[in-house]
Amino acid sequence: MTQLRTLLSSLRNIFGHLPTAHQVALGGATLLIVISLSLSDDSSAVAPAIGQLSEELNISSAEGVIDPDAVPSDEPEPESEIAYVVQKGDTLSTIFDFLRISQPTLHKLMEADVNVLALDTIQPGHELGFNFDTDGKLKQFIFRSGLTYKVIFDRSKKGGFEFEELIEKGGYRTEIFSGVVKGNLPSSMQKVGVRIAEAYQVTSLLKERMNFRNHLRAGDRFQLAVSRQYVDGEYTGNSVIEGFVYDGAVRKQSAFLFDENYFDADGESLEKAFQRIPLSKRYRISSHFNPRRKHPVTGLVRPHNGTDFALRIGTPVLAAGDGIVTRVVKHRYAGLYIEIKHGQKYKTRYLHLHKAYVRKGQKVSRGQKIAASGNSGRSTGPHLHYELHVNNRPVNAMTAPIPVVQTIARKKRSAFKKQVAAIKAQMTEQLALAEKQAQ
Ligand SMILES: [Zn+2]
Repeated sequence: MTQLRTLLSSLRNIFGHLPTAHQVALGGATLLIVISLSLSDDSSAVAPAIGQLSEELNISSAEGVIDPDAVPSDEPEPESEIAYVVQKGDTLSTIFDFLRISQPTLHKLMEADVNVLALDTIQPGHELGFNFDTDGKLKQFIFRSGLTYKVIFDRSKKGGFEFEELIEKGGYRTEIFSGVVKGNLPSSMQKVGVRIAEAYQVTSLLKERMNFRNHLRAGDRFQLAVSRQYVDGEYTGNSVIEGFVYDGAVRKQSAFLFDENYFDADGESLEKAFQRIPLSKRYRISSHFNPRRKHPVTGLVRPHNGTDFALRIGTPVLAAGDGIVTRVVKHRYAGLYIEIKHGQKYKTRYLHLHKAYVRKGQKVSRGQKIAASGNSGRSTGPHLHYELHVNNRPVNAMTAPIPVVQTIARKKRSAFKKQVAAIKAQMTEQLALAEKQAQ
């Protein structure tokens, strides 16, 4: 129903923006619309009728008569003239074709997208917004995935698109869970209200320290402090493990987040180190990370989100750390590229490749050969463009404080101890409360 409302408000907006009168009949069991829309990006193209639009948008009108005036007026103003929810089987190209937006316009968007690589990820459920100028030319394109992530592409006076990436901060709330092992750990955690993804974050954090088959005993106790993100009271799917304590008959183990890394209660790092450079030796850096770079010709802001290494085509590219391959994609401008997710916090990307030796979903370990460097996509010469993202933000991979340290620095020890004590106190308090309620 929400989707239908969005469509109806988009339709009303479109009608408002059309110069001439059109006949609209909304009613009965189908949406019958006898107009053609002027949505085209170039005036020669024939625009689709809304009947087709509704069909393509999978609009069901099974709820009977639809009266556009019945749409509550307190609905917030839609941010786009056309709102489209990506359906199974859609590609950006088919959606743009359908809306009669020209391929050159799509290419200009992809050119801006090379900096964020958001548009490669479109999948069912993502929301796209389109705004047009008075000539019917695409003026603004909005990509939204989930509650927290949005990229706005605005047509600049110079013809290309500027982009703005918006990540909703939301509010984080710490929640404490405690329970007893019965069966495996994730399902025991789920029983007391821990989300399955959070349980897997915990097991992945401790995988170097614990064997979840041999070390578990029925009746072992565990406690978890997790910080969950909410936007307008709705959980966004983002959770940060703050602390975990496992008190078992065979194994005692803990994990605490401190200074963006995980340590056990003694301050020993739980995370495996990264290698600073995803290559077997140091090569010349031909372009440094620069978030404020401007394009020399167009003047558009084109941040350089990575570090470029000048390399001969075919140079082995190595995984910077242990992880899972999340993308092996060919992009018009980024060329063939690979993305690897390293736990919840880190992501690395390797662009302009010649050949990939891994596939999506594959587990890789630090130092593993994943590709041969190349010159694919829009590239000024053979090189590797390497990106490191921390919490979904690109950072300078050459200087970022990635986990290469194994223990907490001496001068930070007392701060760490204090933090561990605070989380443990919260856990104890929660446990006492739970026991009281159980009586
Ligand atoms: Zn680069």
